[in-house]
Amino acid sequence: MRIQCVDCGEQMKDWAVRCQCGGILEIKRDLSSLDRDYLLKLFNERLYERGTLYASGVWRYRELIAPELPQDILITRGEGNTGLYSSKSAADYAGIRQLQFKAQSENPSGSFKDNGMVVAVSHGLSLGKHRFACSSTGNTSASLSLYAAWSGTSSYIFAPAEHISAAKISQTAAYGGHLVRFHGTYDDGIHFLEQYADALDLYVCNSLNPYRIEGQKSIIFELAQQLNWSMPDWIAIPGGALSNVSALGKGLEDLFTLGLINKLPRIALIQAEGASPFHRMMQSNDTSLLPDSNPFTRASAMNIGNPPSWKKARHAIQLTNGITASVTDEEIMQAKQIIDRNGIGCEPASAATLAGIKKLRAIGVIDKDEHAVCILTGHLLKDIAALDELYSHDQTSQQAVELTQEQVSIKCY
Ligand SMILES: *Cc1c(COP(=O)(O)O)cnc(C)c1O
Ligand SMILES: [Zn+2]
Repeated sequence: MRIQCVDCGEQMKDWAVRCQCGGILEIKRDLSSLDRDYLLKLFNERLYERGTLYASGVWRYRELIAPELPQDILITRGEGNTGLYSSKSAADYAGIRQLQFKAQSENPSGSFKDNGMVVAVSHGLSLGKHRFACSSTGNTSASLSLYAAWSGTSSYIFAPAEHISAAKISQTAAYGGHLVRFHGTYDDGIHFLEQYADALDLYVCNSLNPYRIEGQKSIIFELAQQLNWSMPDWIAIPGGALSNVSALGKGLEDLFTLGLINKLPRIALIQAEGASPFHRMMQSNDTSLLPDSNPFTRASAMNIGNPPSWKKARHAIQLTNGITASVTDEEIMQAKQIIDRNGIGCEPASAATLAGIKKLRAIGVIDKDEHAVCILTGHLLKDIAALDELYSHDQTSQQAVELTQEQVSIKCY
């Protein structure tokens, strides 16, 4: 195992947030000593674990995620183990044969961030750290503060004073995360941490932490196992900072290299129109990313104008012959209602996946006979304002009736 820079290839000797050259870091593993049949048997046997480390939907795949971390230091809150649900109404909505949702919203803190955070915090603990930090306005802070609380350590959340999501910040405070409010943007918070984390003895858990990427690979490992190691035609995923799509690509590469799957699904990375610098780059065949200085989308978890992981994301798209698309906030909110009405639900960013599949079907990129899996990244209750906006009408528009059999039967039939 080695940690190296994506830009200059330099191998890191000490743990750092970034390479000296400014590039982001990546974990490289030699998988050649791992045997496919041995892994298959191991992963399948671990499905019977209960209440143990290996019952976790992340640590079940420990050999492919972080075998170098000592077992007695690893923490778990039973993350992963999320449902995979087929939906006829969503398939009809998108116009394809089969559509399934992988509900990462069922994680302990309500988002896929837990898959990566449990590994990053475990790595920090292995270095003897007990003070963790991130700059975030949402699900990353909730996840970090949950794992800090669970491991008896402290978390420091650098939150821009102006752009915060109320429910997620309250959730963070509930787990005991220390909020450091500052004037400036999310990027300013990251720059501060890159400069001062060492001096403040903070272990940084932002999306560019390569152990988060290793942990997030478990989403595709678990999906593959649920599908009996047979891949769908498409996997749709929303993109903000682009850590999750990077992990999806890296995890698929692992599975394919090991022979655990024999076909790579195509990745459909969906961004919101108001925050889609990566989609623009891929469409125009530009060789570098032009940041959006003023991103805006209703799907706050994707409201990022300068995604740090764009090079890894580009590799993921190219590797799988994938595609990018952007969808409007209206399309996102419409798709969200389909997912909500299925009895699953999600926060707006997650619904971009279904909106994206529908759009790609409409323009003929996806065939009607194909099978797609949409990764639902965050829980329905993460964005109460969106719920009020969409559904308060349903609660208040109806006139009250007297509870007589006649009056009620009119409403019920
Ligand atoms: C973080 C997040 C995203 C975006 O993921 P990236 O890895 O930043 O691209 C999408 N949806 C939800 C709910 C999130 O919390
Ligand atoms: Zn470098």
